[in-house]
Amino acid sequence: LSSFPSSDGATPAMAQWFALKAQEPEALLFFRMGDFYELFFNDAEAAAMALDIALTTRGQHAGNPIPMCGVPVAAAPAYLARLIRRGFRVAVAEQTQSAPKPGEKPLKGPLTRAIVRVVTPGTLTEDELLEAGRQNLLLALAHPPGRVKRNGPVGVAWIDISTGAVETQSLPAEGLAELLVQLDPAEILAAEEIIPPAYADRRAPPVDGAKTSAAAALDAARRTVARAFDVAQISVLGDFTDEEAIACAMALDYVRRSQAGNMPRLSRPMRRGEAGTLGLDPATRASLDLLQGRDGTTTHTLLDAVSRTVTAAGSRLIATWIAAPSTDAALIARRQEAWCWLRDTPSVLASLTALLRRTPDLARALGRLSTGRGQPRDLAAIRDALHTANAAVALLQPASDARTPALIREITAGLYGRADTLLETLERALAEDLPLKLEDGGVIAQGFDETLDRHRALRDDSRKHLAALQLRYVDEFGVPNLKIRHHAQLGYIIETSASAAARLRDREGVMLRQGTANLARFSTPALADLDRAILDAGERAAVLERQIFNGLVAQAVAHDALPEVATLFALTDVLQSAAVLAQGGAWCRPDVTEDQQFELHACRHPVVEAALERGARFVPNNCMLPPAERVMLLTGPNMAGKSTFLRQTALAVILAQAGLPVPARAARIGIVDRLFSRVGAADDLARGRSTFMVEMTETAAILRQAGPRSLVVVDEIGRGTATLDGLAIAWATLEALHSQLGARTIFATHFHELGMLTDSMPRLTPYTMAVREWQGDVIFQHEVRSGAARKSWGVHVAQLAGVPEPVVRRASRLLAALERDHARTRPALPLFETEAEQAGTQMPDRLRAAIEALDPDSLSPKEALQAIYDLRKLM
Ligand code: ADP
Repeated sequence: LSSFPSSDGATPAMAQWFALKAQEPEALLFFRMGDFYELFFNDAEAAAMALDIALTTRGQHAGNPIPMCGVPVAAAPAYLARLIRRGFRVAVAEQTQSAPKPGEKPLKGPLTRAIVRVVTPGTLTEDELLEAGRQNLLLALAHPPGRVKRNGPVGVAWIDISTGAVETQSLPAEGLAELLVQLDPAEILAAEEIIPPAYADRRAPPVDGAKTSAAAALDAARRTVARAFDVAQISVLGDFTDEEAIACAMALDYVRRSQAGNMPRLSRPMRRGEAGTLGLDPATRASLDLLQGRDGTTTHTLLDAVSRTVTAAGSRLIATWIAAPSTDAALIARRQEAWCWLRDTPSVLASLTALLRRTPDLARALGRLSTGRGQPRDLAAIRDALHTANAAVALLQPASDARTPALIREITAGLYGRADTLLETLERALAEDLPLKLEDGGVIAQGFDETLDRHRALRDDSRKHLAALQLRYVDEFGVPNLKIRHHAQLGYIIETSASAAARLRDREGVMLRQGTANLARFSTPALADLDRAILDAGERAAVLERQIFNGLVAQAVAHDALPEVATLFALTDVLQSAAVLAQGGAWCRPDVTEDQQFELHACRHPVVEAALERGARFVPNNCMLPPAERVMLLTGPNMAGKSTFLRQTALAVILAQAGLPVPARAARIGIVDRLFSRVGAADDLARGRSTFMVEMTETAAILRQAGPRSLVVVDEIGRGTATLDGLAIAWATLEALHSQLGARTIFATHFHELGMLTDSMPRLTPYTMAVREWQGDVIFQHEVRSGAARKSWGVHVAQLAGVPEPVVRRASRLLAALERDHARTRPALPLFETEAEQAGTQMPDRLRAAIEALDPDSLSPKEALQAIYDLRKLM
């Protein structure tokens, strides 16, 4: 607040502004004044700049004009969205008292106002501010209480308040970066020292809490969580670690504050185990364009290529499946069985797709209702969703028999008549044509509530009386253009032209209220009575309507089944998406097994395939990595399709373990525990790290983490440094993968020398990208064949690119000479000893015995020299 002037001597309205600003000093204050939200002082300057709106002034403070800008209330969502996207937080202060009615006593001071909402990136519920198909997460990080250990555990809790989902996880600090990439939270609550630097700009401003002991803080956190979910003790909810409890409480407190104490409905927190999901580190995700492309868009992503979901909730769910594929064969099989069943029951599938298309976003409607921002259409969404739930059951149940998969049966049971009473109530309660806003009236249907109907009848009858009265006055006063109008200050009045005013002036009971050069306004006792009756009836109807609406909202929000119905709808949508994709046979159900097999038959890259120009055909390729040949060495020129092949293999694993169809004729995949993909140039130069440094950091990560159940696909390790350096590093890495880590590996390289290693590495098999030379041109066939590349095609590519003929010819000759030299100097021994080699270099027992028999301290120099000669003979 220091940058704002002191509040001394402020006018009453500005004093109120200062008081509210002090409650949320880090946020821009949207101060409601009539039909505008006004911003003042620095807030006004910042907002005017960010929104490109006019900056003016209003009144004075401490002798200076007060900078001000404003946005119309009706257009506020669009402005809010822009401010949030630019990293601002916004506190919204509303008038909590209504302006005095005509005839009421004017207020002494300004209207009372209160902050009703703090809008932050992680706590949005408004549709206008959310992307329909994406989760919007608020995430909190916490250490366990007490002393912080390096790489000790970190508690993570994340909430999507637009849908009410809450999850927690406890993991070693080094796994944090990976989880953050996977979750991509909109806002993070954390102490500065926990948050990885790349996420610092998403950090919410810290709240100064009272300093308490670690134990007291933990206790308070546990109570906060228990209270939020209405249980006596947190242990009822599950087995949460201390750090998870603290993180969860942080997130909950923040949500409560952002909603001004109005806690939204949240599902019980779920613990996410570290085991159970496929490990995908940030570099792997970055190289595969899973949910978001490297260009930041969502086209040309795996999600875009495989999703056939038709609801926003479905597209959010399928994104989480792709972001966190499973390692649980049983879970994967359950998903597969369900979509295969739908695929093979086409009549049901088609109707189901059509049905889902008409399903509203139940989770987000519930989110808005539970934060008190619900509108009539949100209740209608619940009604329609429940309606569709019954229709879905009616569709699935008759098609079910003993072979119906478990997941489909769970969906049917979970959707069956879950909230029929609520549905029946909503169907009766909601009017056919719903207004956008509750205030517009007419939300509750005729016939639902007798009292409401009576007030409405009275209100509408009065209107009829008004019309009759107007006719009577026209007659009585002989003024044909006399009108009865409603006036903001005067209420109902008679309006005539100034020239006709004389005819009314001295009539009994008629009172002149206002006269101008053109017109005159009169009131009569009959009009005043009617005015009051209309106002009263209208007001009573509005109050009652709001009450009924709130009652319905409370019923819906308290209904246990709704979040579950929402989840099941999302699940149904993802399953129908998979079934639709797999129709036609281009996508298969992979056989996911517990062993270490790996077979992809005629596999394709879904994104590259979709992007091929018309007429171009994608060439499918096999990829076989059986245990005896689990390391593939892939050579071939640039542009031949190496990266595509590497990526499609990685993507097939992700899809298979997400439980989704795979773009191949057939596939068998022994479950992968960690997937490492290093394909394409790592563009980290902007952050000041050299390409080579990045490359080596990533290589180091693989060598430290990959194991026998992992899959590694790497492209051009060692390209970032001098040839010999690079070759040595590539070589050593390949050996480690082959002999020490035992990971299934595809190793793409332009170091053809590595092809020779097949002799010393039994599980290494050479493959190459097929290339044809035709009339001096290079034709890429995009086909992976066994064997080593015959030669490097760099010179050809140079020619293709238009490098002048003499230079190309000279390069060809140089190449031939270099290749001859190379053949003469075979590289030295591998850096790592392979198993075969370790056996070969075992020290002979006699030699060992002779060395052990020596006593260096008792030898003379001459004896020592002789001993060395003797030992040499033993070798
Ligand atoms: P490399 O990594 O060998 O330089 P890429 O994998 O980037 O080559 O492929 C180059 C281009 O070739 C791609 O953009 C794509 O258009 C095309 N391509 C790659 N693989 C195939 C394939 N299997 N079938 C058809 N076209 C392909």
